[in-house]
Amino acid sequence: MKTPFVAANWKMHKTVEEAVSYVGTLRGRLKNTAGVEVVLAPPFTAIQALAVASAGMPIGVAGQDLYWESQGTFTGEISAAMLKEAGASHVIIGHSERRHIFRETNDEVNKKVRAAIAADLRPIVCVGETEDERDADRTVDVLDLQIAAGFRGRDSIQVTRLVVAYEPVWAIGTGRTATPKQAQAAHAHIRSRLTETFGSKNAQLCRIIYGGSVKPSNAAALSAEPDVDGALVGGAGLEPESFAEIVAKSVPARV
Ligand code: PEP
Repeated sequence: MKTPFVAANWKMHKTVEEAVSYVGTLRGRLKNTAGVEVVLAPPFTAIQALAVASAGMPIGVAGQDLYWESQGTFTGEISAAMLKEAGASHVIIGHSERRHIFRETNDEVNKKVRAAIAADLRPIVCVGETEDERDADRTVDVLDLQIAAGFRGRDSIQVTRLVVAYEPVWAIGTGRTATPKQAQAAHAHIRSRLTETFGSKNAQLCRIIYGGSVKPSNAAALSAEPDVDGALVGGAGLEPESFAEIVAKSVPARV
């Protein structure tokens, strides 16, 4: 049985002080959630403080991005080893904002996935189609390309340490959520592709989580789908109260 995985991506929000205060509130609210893996992804500047503040709590800390080289003349970048040293256990890779605002390619996503795994960081790899791609019936093609290119070099990728986040771009920050049926269809497709690449046993163990306007009101219905193994939460993860509610609602009846 897979442990559900719920992460909050804070994006460019929260100072160190705000991050530490959030954890203090979350501490009292994460009850009856022993069966869920919880991860917070703060800005780089708050990783260390958050790792210290959440020590002893069942919470992982994730970077929101990384660079694939280990060091060098790459102004503004941060390596996998630096994230790890600061206290990160996970790293988000290929978020749609990185892909669309910063023009990150599938090839770059692949380099980042491999660098993360080599440094013993667990990648949370985001995939998903834009609204135009969905309207043109290209969702499956886009997912296939992102998975094939993003996970190239499968021998060096431990798929059971990966989390794949299906995040339809049209649902991120828009208030529009994929229906549970739409999410399930995409997740089942992703799992079938992971099965082809990594084998059935490994693909079954890989968590595929949904992201895109997840809220306390829709988390339970999404998590009830058989191939939805948790959530990547943006806006609703900025408040510890609503995030804790989402975590509690992501424990499906099957656990
Ligand atoms: C995200 O940015 O990963 C995300 C899912 O955002 P939101 O929940 O705000 O749609």
